[in-house]
Amino acid sequence: MEFRLEHTDGLARAGSIMTHHGLIPTPIFMPVGTQGAVKAVEPRELEEIGARIILGNTYHLYLRPGRDIIERAGGLHGFIGWRRPILTDSGGYQVFSLSDLRGIEEEGVTFKSHLDGSSHTFSPERVVEIQRVLGSDIMMVLDECNPYPCDEAYAFRSHALTLRWAGRCQNRMAQTSPAYGANQSLFAIVQGSTYPAIREQSARALVAMDFEGYAIGGLSVGEPAELMYMMTGLCTAILPASKPRYLMGVGTPENILEAIARGVDMFDCVMPTRNGRNAVLFTRRGKLNMRNAVHTADLGPVDPDCTCYTCRSFSRAYLRHLFKAGEILALQLASIHNLAFYLWLVRSAREAIAERRFAAWKDSLLAALAAEPVISIP
Ligand SMILES: [Zn+2]
Repeated sequence: MEFRLEHTDGLARAGSIMTHHGLIPTPIFMPVGTQGAVKAVEPRELEEIGARIILGNTYHLYLRPGRDIIERAGGLHGFIGWRRPILTDSGGYQVFSLSDLRGIEEEGVTFKSHLDGSSHTFSPERVVEIQRVLGSDIMMVLDECNPYPCDEAYAFRSHALTLRWAGRCQNRMAQTSPAYGANQSLFAIVQGSTYPAIREQSARALVAMDFEGYAIGGLSVGEPAELMYMMTGLCTAILPASKPRYLMGVGTPENILEAIARGVDMFDCVMPTRNGRNAVLFTRRGKLNMRNAVHTADLGPVDPDCTCYTCRSFSRAYLRHLFKAGEILALQLASIHNLAFYLWLVRSAREAIAERRFAAWKDSLLAALAAEPVISIP
């Protein structure tokens, strides 16, 4: 993997990540395909709306369908029919949030599957080995993600453990080879909850270990947005300019713009697909709830400035009808549009950075996004 920083505008950055499976222009949004599928969206549609990289999850894919079948398929790319880059999360977050957690030891984490109650252990070495089999272009270290709020002593111990685990992941990475000949990279994850001193210590220690990229983890877990921005800015000020930076699990269009302004390059979030399935659509003028009666006879597109298949082909009235009638097509069309919106957002940010007008563009878009009141899901 090679990262090239192409333009800066203030702290905002535009660059390119070169991987075996293709080039990723940054800033980038990565659609989430936790179980090897972006919910309700076909890979060919993802390509059409300009998705350059998608996410998979080690915890989910390890439990089901399991490593063997993915290995026999030649890796995740072959198994799921996606030719472009894939990033896999280590599964640490899911172990802590989904499974019946049995213990966090120095060696690793023991848990019972949320699917069938079977017992498993994830060690730092094991998650690297599993991600080798998945064949992901970008792999993540095993980390402990703290809840919010989290007391300072716990956050410190947790950061120290995450740091030792990062070193073990890096060692195993060096001892193993890509399963299918395609180069794989390993990103570290900065933790430290909302404590500036711990965040700083975490970032500095990981930078000294020289990873290929750095994620900022443990944010967007319930803390106020201002605190998220503060922690993000603190981390990006320490992380090297020559490596990509990934803010995990963030967020709203507003969150993404503010994080780009603080020097973040990569994002993932379930928000566009999950909101889409709940009939909430993002537009350049704020969010719409397609179940709202105001759309009953509106034959205009969801977003007149959007060029996605949904907006080119269908009206707000039809989308509302599909949601009211419980048609599966509603979930597909809404997910396509929302992902297209997020990808437009990061593409436009990239153009604005290249033309050194990012701050003005961001301010005008933030004003437009706030213009239409958010209509709550009934
Ligand atoms: Zn659209």
